Amino acid sequence: MALSYRSTRGTAAPLEFPDVLLAGLATDGGLYLPDTWPTLSSATPDTYVELAAEVMFPFVEGTITRSDFDSMIVDAYSTFGVPEVCPLVQLDEHHHLLELFHGPTLAFKDIALQLVGRLFDHELTRRDARVMIVGATSGDTGSAAMEAVRSSDRADIVVLYPAGRTSEVQRRQMTTLTDVNVHAVALDGTFDDCQDLVKAMFADEVFRSRNRLSAVNSINWARVMAQIVYYVWAAQLLGRRATPTTFCVPTGNFGNVFAGHVANSMGLPVGRLMVASNSNDILSRLIETGEMVASEVVPTLSPSMDIQISSNLERLLVELLDGNGAATAEFLTTFRSTGRAALTADQHLRLRADFTGDRIDDARTLEIMAEVHETHGLLVDPHTAVGIGVAQRLRRPGETIVSLATAHPAKFPDAVSKATGVEPELPGHLADLFDRPERFESLPDDLTTVEDYVDSVRRS
Ligand SMILES: *Cc1c(COP(=O)(O)O)cnc(C)c1O
Repeated sequence: MALSYRSTRGTAAPLEFPDVLLAGLATDGGLYLPDTWPTLSSATPDTYVELAAEVMFPFVEGTITRSDFDSMIVDAYSTFGVPEVCPLVQLDEHHHLLELFHGPTLAFKDIALQLVGRLFDHELTRRDARVMIVGATSGDTGSAAMEAVRSSDRADIVVLYPAGRTSEVQRRQMTTLTDVNVHAVALDGTFDDCQDLVKAMFADEVFRSRNRLSAVNSINWARVMAQIVYYVWAAQLLGRRATPTTFCVPTGNFGNVFAGHVANSMGLPVGRLMVASNSNDILSRLIETGEMVASEVVPTLSPSMDIQISSNLERLLVELLDGNGAATAEFLTTFRSTGRAALTADQHLRLRADFTGDRIDDARTLEIMAEVHETHGLLVDPHTAVGIGVAQRLRRPGETIVSLATAHPAKFPDAVSKATGVEPELPGHLADLFDRPERFESLPDDLTTVEDYVDSVRRS
């Protein structure tokens, strides 16, 4: 029997994995969650790919064969630069860094997206169907999504980025891909303009069905699923499958840290989950006060966490609200219309039983990067530094902490050299990134023009 998935809002029909994968968002606006949490198998295989298959197979069982699933996993993680896929580095006796950035685009999103690209292709082939993926990016997600589908015969992808507003590394990671099905668009506008255009394309029914539009955004269940694995992997590498480990997670959309919560729900002993925020600290304030209060997004050195509305929080919220989809929808509607929404005292207490959090501003982020470099000879990127800083501030004597390193330092060279005086080097597969020819389309912030462009690049 295949696992059934339900929407957090409770009214959309339950689906099985392949439909959840392709749908992304539920028709009632909610996010999919499995009906029950499978129990982690006690197996401790030697390799990341074997563990990944053990941990994730129960979520797809009955809809994908084990051998197909195994080969997709092998294929997905063969793109990583190190055999451990996600290696651990020790900072001090009780503090470890889990390096999640050895994938093709140097950020942790590759871990989920490399697999999601293959899952898409597998399902589209089975259905003899095609899709056009459209997305907006402020920097990181775009290249990770393009890398994920670049070898697909079934999917085309168009990514809009705000011209002149991404870092040069981020832009080049998108514009130097040579595959015929990936397209970077430099939009004359802001990231918000890019997002608005994507929303408008999805709202244009005729255009949407003509192109079979799809998305691979962070609310897709399959992305969360793929991220559960490295929590189990870290515990296993430390010999702590039976003793609690605390994880500290640099957080934006809450997808990564929610995957840690899922690992815990499946039976992995987890001490605490530390939610590390930059100055956009809505989540750490929620944990502290029980109230979610919106404020303006401020740009920081860790741009992938410059978020005020954390979409994946909805998956935890429905649990705190005892599975009540209507109450979940109401909480989020209240928040969107008034800019605030509060948990009850009991719900707040349950949130605090598992989660803690704090914020680190840019000045402190640079100090931490300098300290880590001085003490350990290690360069860390600003997102990772926010995590390390929060772990240092909240740690208890003797508590074993794994901080997640979410991006490679060379992805954010300006911040790294400002903090440490050292220019981080790009790893081998990207060493010639600055010599490669760029290919992109410059377009105005105009829906018709962008839609015409998408129509023109679609393969039929
Ligand atoms: C996306 C991203 C994050 C935030 O992850 P969420 O799952 O959105 O919480 C943190 N660090 C880096 C480098 C990222 O790219």
